[in-house]
Amino acid sequence: MKITVPVLPVTFILHFGGKIDVFVSSFQTPRVGRFVENIQQRKRAANVRIAPLTTRPPISSLHNAEFFDDGDPNAKAANSNYGELERLKLEEQRLSALLTSVRQQKLAVLRSRPLTIGIIGFGRFGQFIAKSFTKYGNVVATSRSDYAALANEMGVKYVHMSEMERLVVDEDLDVIVLAVSIVSFENTVKQLLPYLKKRMDKRGENSCPLIVDVLSVKEHPRNILLELLPEECDILCTHPMFGPDSAKNGWEGQTFVYEKTRINKVLLYPAGNESDGGNDDAEESFMDDGGHSRTVHSNSESFVESMDRIERFLSIWEEEGCKMTPLSCANHDAYAANSQFITHLMGRILGAQGLQPTPIDTRGFQSVLKLIENTNADSFDLFYGLYKYNRNSDLTIEKLRASMDDVTRTLLRTELKEARDK
Ligand code: NAP
Repeated sequence: MKITVPVLPVTFILHFGGKIDVFVSSFQTPRVGRFVENIQQRKRAANVRIAPLTTRPPISSLHNAEFFDDGDPNAKAANSNYGELERLKLEEQRLSALLTSVRQQKLAVLRSRPLTIGIIGFGRFGQFIAKSFTKYGNVVATSRSDYAALANEMGVKYVHMSEMERLVVDEDLDVIVLAVSIVSFENTVKQLLPYLKKRMDKRGENSCPLIVDVLSVKEHPRNILLELLPEECDILCTHPMFGPDSAKNGWEGQTFVYEKTRINKVLLYPAGNESDGGNDDAEESFMDDGGHSRTVHSNSESFVESMDRIERFLSIWEEEGCKMTPLSCANHDAYAANSQFITHLMGRILGAQGLQPTPIDTRGFQSVLKLIENTNADSFDLFYGLYKYNRNSDLTIEKLRASMDDVTRTLLRTELKEARDK
């Protein structure tokens, strides 16, 4: 082993076996002079050359140098082994540079071809996202119902759910987006699983497309995907915080929440997963399965390709103007119970009152009617999923009940006091 330590104005080359070769650019500083003297006096330092750094012999020429020939035949043999070792190392360096260059070319080719995105679940939301995806890549969709004509109009290839195998095994999919209802999510993943495995058997273990979910709850799909999918499948959990009503005029400024859940077999625990109340940038560090802290700046080939594919998919949302918001699934659900779920809950409660427009509607009442209209346009499955699969939603209902009691009690108390004061 040889370690080269270039420290201007001195370069040390430490050879395995304790031999030291030193190149210095000059003796201009007393510190450098003292250092070289010190080396010369040391028993094991066999050679000190003095040369300006610019004329320093190239490292490649060193492997033939007879640095340590002090008449000892063992030293001669060591020198000749050393030369062979250096030659192999240079060869290794050359091949490694070649590999890097091939990888870069491969990545460039991957980047230059459009993504092929499969969508499973072509209902209200599946269609809504497909429309934008077609601007950036090829889209193939499947669903229980027959949406072939509609898909055709949108430029989306359609495959009926009964032919899911064809979609998953035969199509050149980069990404699969699961856009089915929350309540049917687990079964859909179970249905998908054998086809994914078949694909990986046929095309190799690295052929699993990036699996993305868009469910309005996040811990539930995260757990299901981690539990059921082969570890070779990368997972991206997302929640576009908008839909066909709220973003009918485009996605500009709409919030897009995402968690890079698993990349290249490494489970990412975003910083601040549970406790920090919102510092959720999942980009930099994570724990691997062995509990070791790692950074995402790994340069393994498959890691780079996985990251590249995720970034390319995310860039669609970014290009459309979304506010990109990395957030852990756990924190998403905590926030969503007190924002999205309560909105849907109020919309459903007020909708159940049968409220109708009147000739004297205030602006406030108009927004109440709008809330009812928007929330009731979503399927009941979606509303039920928000309740059933977010562990925080029970508490939201409890707090709403308590607040309702508080407010009505305050009204009654005020009325009683007023009566007493008369
Ligand atoms: P949804 O009622 O939540 O889901 C409808 C979709 O689920 C349809 O594609 C439907 O397929 C499929 N589906 C329902 N039951 C199924 C079953 N048993 N097996 C297989 N597929 C089944 O309504 P959505 O608005 O389209 O939402 C889809 C997903 O997007 C949900 O997970 C939702 O949380 C998420 N999301 C929705 C919005 C939004 O604004 N609507 C926003 C963000 C995220 P068929 O149509 O073929 O029956």
